[in-house]
Amino acid sequence: MPDPRDTPAMRQFTRFKQRHPDCILLFRIGDFYETFDDDAVTCHKALGLTLTQRTEGIPMAGVPHHQLENYLRRLIQQGYRVAVCDQVQDAKEAKGIVERAVTRVITPGTRVEDSLLDESAASRLAALAPADLRDPTRLGLAAVEVSTGAFTVFETSAAALADALAARGIDELIFPEQPGLAGKLPPALARAAEVHGISCTPRPAWHFRPAEALEAVRQQFGVATVAGFGLRDDELAVCAAGAIIRYLLETQTPTEDSAGATGVPSSARPCTGTPARQRPTLAHLLPPRREEDGAVCILDGVSLRALEVERTIRTPHGRTAAGAADGSLVGLFLSSPGGCRTPMGKRLLREWLCRPSLRLDEVRSRHARVALLVEDRRTAKALAEALDGVQDVARIGGRIALRRATPRDLVALGRSLARVETLAAVIHSAPAFAVSLRALESVREQLAPVARRILDACIDSPPQHLREGGLFRDGFDAALDEARLLQRDAASWLAAYQQRLSAEHKLPGLKVGFNKVFGYYIELPAAQARQAPGALTRKQTLKNAERYTTPELEEFQEKVTTAESRAVERERLLFDGLCDEAGAVLPAIAAFAQCVAELDTLACFAERALRRRWVRPEMTDEPVLSITAGRHPVLEEVLGDRFVPNDVQLGGARQRDSETATEGESGAAGGSSPDSLSRCLAASLALITGPNMAGKSTFIRQTALIVLLAHAGSFVPAEAATIGLTDRIFTRVGADDALHAGQSTFMVEMTETATILNSATARSLVILDEIGRGTSTLDGLSLAWAIAEHLVGPESRPPAGETGAPQGPRTLFATHYHELTELEDRLPGRIRNLHVSVREWGEQIVFLHRILPGRTDRSYGVHVAKLAGIPAPVVARAREVLASLAVHHSVGQASRPAGSPGAAAAIPPPSPAGNGQLGLFTEFLPHPAVDRLREIKLDTLSPIQAFDTLRGLKQLLDEP
Ligand code: ADP
Ligand code: MG
Repeated sequence: MPDPRDTPAMRQFTRFKQRHPDCILLFRIGDFYETFDDDAVTCHKALGLTLTQRTEGIPMAGVPHHQLENYLRRLIQQGYRVAVCDQVQDAKEAKGIVERAVTRVITPGTRVEDSLLDESAASRLAALAPADLRDPTRLGLAAVEVSTGAFTVFETSAAALADALAARGIDELIFPEQPGLAGKLPPALARAAEVHGISCTPRPAWHFRPAEALEAVRQQFGVATVAGFGLRDDELAVCAAGAIIRYLLETQTPTEDSAGATGVPSSARPCTGTPARQRPTLAHLLPPRREEDGAVCILDGVSLRALEVERTIRTPHGRTAAGAADGSLVGLFLSSPGGCRTPMGKRLLREWLCRPSLRLDEVRSRHARVALLVEDRRTAKALAEALDGVQDVARIGGRIALRRATPRDLVALGRSLARVETLAAVIHSAPAFAVSLRALESVREQLAPVARRILDACIDSPPQHLREGGLFRDGFDAALDEARLLQRDAASWLAAYQQRLSAEHKLPGLKVGFNKVFGYYIELPAAQARQAPGALTRKQTLKNAERYTTPELEEFQEKVTTAESRAVERERLLFDGLCDEAGAVLPAIAAFAQCVAELDTLACFAERALRRRWVRPEMTDEPVLSITAGRHPVLEEVLGDRFVPNDVQLGGARQRDSETATEGESGAAGGSSPDSLSRCLAASLALITGPNMAGKSTFIRQTALIVLLAHAGSFVPAEAATIGLTDRIFTRVGADDALHAGQSTFMVEMTETATILNSATARSLVILDEIGRGTSTLDGLSLAWAIAEHLVGPESRPPAGETGAPQGPRTLFATHYHELTELEDRLPGRIRNLHVSVREWGEQIVFLHRILPGRTDRSYGVHVAKLAGIPAPVVARAREVLASLAVHHSVGQASRPAGSPGAAAAIPPPSPAGNGQLGLFTEFLPHPAVDRLREIKLDTLSPIQAFDTLRGLKQLLDEP
């Protein structure tokens, strides 16, 4: 039996597959893109394609060619890499097997087509250059947005890698292959990539070597050294940048495939795609720019998720679709009315919200511009109108360089660039926008003529593909007009010819027609066929008719068809010319795009501020936080006036003490610190207690969101806010919070908390929600206690705000451990109790959602049960049990009235060394050795095993 793989097509396939072993190879056969072997099985599973067999033993699955983009998107979204192998020769011209070439390699980090991308989110490719993968303490990284050319470098540590990748929207990471690692990242780094679904691609180690990498960067940018970009020639990040350039050259400008594998010249492109004479370039890559340390307020991945910045906790993976009001913060700004109007604005908005600025002047300048648009409605309205028609010029610029632009891209570019004048005119008289105005004026000279050329040349509603023809206006190009005229005249010429022939030969039934397969023909009904004059040459016999041709008709046909291809060819040439013109001003296009993005995002901030009466926050350098009548930005959109605003004051001198005035309003036990100092100084840690569903989580998250929004440059949902610059916002939610169910474990909770305790500074904001609840009550309480103490610093330290005293991070700590409220008495002035008020209303409990000073009523659980209709004897019994449990938990505590100062006297103060006295709680913790002892089955142990077990037990005991 012949080998089923030994056919020309399969041999060709195998050759391409060998060149792209890590890709799914989509192999064009006729109207389908086919996959074979393992690829076919993968596609069957990933895309639900029907699995067939090409021949016995070769699995095959295919997609119709017109559905390619759709399937590509789904494959890439699932993290696969795809190589598209096209026919680069007209099948009719092929002698033997048709020539093919890999025309695109698409990976998650190198997408440039709109159909494969989300317009509201950047997709980036990053490269990782460690000095040594096995000891990756210092990592140099480069990140590029292939679709727009934005290119940055930065350094990070292995520990911070996951967050660094998450905050930048990295979809793919390339790293050097190293011996012994089998093309994989070391486990610690691989995990960092995995949590965010980043696909990892090994690359040859030499791409990352300093000399070779530097050479790649030099060549790309035509420089002798990278010093001009503010980089050092020998730094790790440059190694990463060089590796990225090589990777892009390979995937975005694949050429050697067609030449090497099939002997087709390297310029060959698919016959239906871009024209042969233009090679893709990376001309849109901007020089790598270093991301300064300390330029942004850091939100790690966990905080971004907990605060629902990009997506709600319930949304499992991937980003939200553009414009979706999905309950996330980004979604809030993207949704209309008043949402961002341009794709560039949408992406910058996301960037600013995920990486808010830490530069006081920049933040204040953004606020000033928002303020201007809030006040000057005429300018705001004109700006909105000017922005409305601007399309994704940043990505179109990228596609122009990569030669993937379509006729629609070109026209969109022309229309958008034409707005440069309008935009400049709109902000002309607004001093706050001087920087943007200068930027627009500096590119206007370059962009306006390009825009005019494009719009003069192209029709208003261009075809999707160049091959369809008809992009250019009549009268724009003489050669094109001539070719078109011939085609258009064909109809009248044929009519005249038909008339002439039938008159000449007296054949009234004679018709002249056209069909795709046979071309032009003269047709006679079968009845008149015998009278056909000798001048007609028979061409085809049908059932009821005969078809003929003449030399004259043949000549006409030749002229028309060449005119057609001449027209297409001419349009390509003109199209390339316009693309080249646009390609020559790519940096100006990028600058324009950046300008539009900023204007759009600021306009969007202004709309939101107006819509919900947000205010301009006052930014300061002091580590303070003071918010009057703050609201949750997303919940207030849902609840409107029903949302209850709340104040917060952390760190620094307290300006007023209005909260105390409202005290006693609730049924809960109030009581602020007796220490008079705390009346004029705000504590740095606020402890919030209150029943379930009272609004604790909402309150602490809204505070974090307000701080985040302020740094992003937005106004904030409050009546007034003074916000000290915040270097990091940490948000952690206790492991078994219902919102987090199934996603987290206690171990994760503690790891995350460890990060906070180790890295929070006096300028950080820490939001802790029910920390410690992922373990037993005693464990959790003890940990929560110690964590709170640690966050405000050692007891010996003077209270926060006192002159010269270092302060702990501003912290909001929501907890159901009401025992923690004792901390306020022990650390007066540094920890402040707040609670959420609740009111009984007949048989109902009413959540007032008001945050008030003081501690909560500790028996609310049983209390709520009573209100909920639990039978009275059960409630009474629960109270009894509660009381006796309290005795067990903390000897001596239950004998005092609940909530009285000094009730926590049973808890020893932390010892200076931080070990030794574990306190009374520990008596009730079962030791693991006891558990182990219980498990041992004595009668199955050999003497040796018995000894080993004993030694194991001893070791368990000796462990700290
Ligand atoms: P907790 O964390 O105390 O259990 P949440 O913060 O989760 O409570 O709030 C529970 C619900 O109460 C929220 O889903 C929201 O609908 C409502 N809520 C919370 N805070 C407010 C508020 N300030 N104004 C109005 N409704 C609120
Ligand atoms: Mg909660």
